Amino acid sequence: MKVGVCLKQVPATDTRIRINGDATAILTDDVKFEINPYDEFALEEGLRLKQAGKATEVITFTLAGADADPRIRDGLARGADRAVRIDDPGLAGSDALGVARALAAALKAEGVGLVLCGRQAVDGDSGVVPAMVAELLGAAQVSWVDKLTIEGGSFTAQRAAGGGVREVVQGALPAVITCDKGLNEPRYATLPGIMKAKAKPIAVKKLGDLGLGGGDVGAGAVVVTHNNMGQPPARPAGRMIGGDAASAVSELVRLLRDEAKVI
Ligand SMILES: Cc1cc2nc3c(=O)[nH]c(=O)nc-3n(C[C@H](O)[C@H](O)[C@H](O)COP(=O)(O)OP(=O)(O)OC[C@H]3O[C@@H](n4cnc5c(N)ncnc54)[C@H](O)[C@@H]3O)c2cc1C
Repeated sequence: MKVGVCLKQVPATDTRIRINGDATAILTDDVKFEINPYDEFALEEGLRLKQAGKATEVITFTLAGADADPRIRDGLARGADRAVRIDDPGLAGSDALGVARALAAALKAEGVGLVLCGRQAVDGDSGVVPAMVAELLGAAQVSWVDKLTIEGGSFTAQRAAGGGVREVVQGALPAVITCDKGLNEPRYATLPGIMKAKAKPIAVKKLGDLGLGGGDVGAGAVVVTHNNMGQPPARPAGRMIGGDAASAVSELVRLLRDEAKVI
């Protein structure tokens, strides 16, 4: 079984985000990028399935320009066998559905049996692309999974359902699973891995290669538009509580109860 891992590059979590003039997108100049942290769990799970003899190949899929290649190489250095990058001028301005259509077409073309994604991309944060990919592939889908078992043609996925309740979902492959923190501990690339990754292929696919056209993806096909992005309000300054320890603690408790209303 081939495992496909959807790997998105996102601004590093310590990057200062700036919004463009018409409030429709973030500015990407001077931004440091990294692999979406949740996608690292997805990649690690794919690599572990291959090590356990349950996957024949781990292929990463990324929809992005060539500027994403260092992140893709990082995935290859950690152990992915090869990568597919979907890149076409016709993709510019795609919404989540357009992104999902392109990813689903590429995953289908490779005959992937299990798709592992992050639970959300920490930039767009919509968490909808994997569900759309599953629908387009006609595959089962479970989100926010923190324990996964594959046996033959079936899967068992576990997720936290809130209030300490665990949900166990069983189904048949093919499936799209979104990966949450706790699923595993992602590995780092080793020096031999980095050297090997230089020779691993990144196949660049155009829309035509995937049987897609302008009516499927890109600005002309959006069903959702972003038109009012903005920075969160500035945080108020911290407050120092003076006095001796006993009175400071009782004042802190009062503030937490009466003002912050958290206790
Ligand atoms: C120039 C530009 C214009 C845009 N215009 C619009 C617009 O008009 N309307 C709109 O709704 N959005 C727009 N977007 C946002 C873009 O479409 C979102 O990035 C997309 O919808 C994915 O949503 P998300 O990032 O929240 O992913 P999520 O759904 O949160 O991602 C979940 C998981 O899906 C996978 N995944 C998601 N994206 C990718 C990817 N690119 N490659 C590989 N795996 C991926 C990853 O595994 C990820 O962890 C625009 C973006 C750009 C750069």
